[in-house]
Amino acid sequence: FPAGLTDLVRSHVREIPDFPAPGVLFRDITPLLADGPALGELVRGLADVYRGKVDAVAGLESRGFILAAPLAVTLGVGMLTVRKAGRLPGPVIGVDYELEYGTARMEMRPETVDPGHRVLIVDDVLATGGTAAAAVELVEQAGGQVAGLSMLLELSELGGRSKLEDRQVDSVLVY
Ligand code: AMP
Repeated sequence: FPAGLTDLVRSHVREIPDFPAPGVLFRDITPLLADGPALGELVRGLADVYRGKVDAVAGLESRGFILAAPLAVTLGVGMLTVRKAGRLPGPVIGVDYELEYGTARMEMRPETVDPGHRVLIVDDVLATGGTAAAAVELVEQAGGQVAGLSMLLELSELGGRSKLEDRQVDSVLVY
């Protein structure tokens, strides 16, 4: 990504200690979303990187949706929703994955993926990588081809990248 985009994100993200639980340093993108010119510059900057290379953009609930939708519109492609368990009407496919405490499940409607389409997976933060890896599996099970993963922020010490094997992972800002 261009350095300007990285600086833009760095200067618009807040760090909130002990949210939503003790010991978690939460990266809050709401200042970036609330700044109209910054949001526009971000979406156009992301679109410049992926224009012509993807056929659909898949957003991960919830904050991935906020970024994926304007990116899809700017690229002129569709937006797919990868959602938490029980939110989507059927038929859906699902992937369970491990959290630090317990498990979680992401779901997708396979009919929303056109066979062979190059799908870009988008979320705000790559942490342990469990959510992103589940999304990769869902897109592939649905018959899509994962063009890559685009993350605003990557928390590298949590090792999320290693769960994504040889996938193309682009993060605007790596901590
Ligand atoms: P993970 O599956 O561990 O990679 O977690 C990814 C999901 O959790 C993303 O959808 C993020 O929005 C959220 N997340 C995890 N850690 C943080 C953090 N420190 N700050 C903000 N969001 C986070």
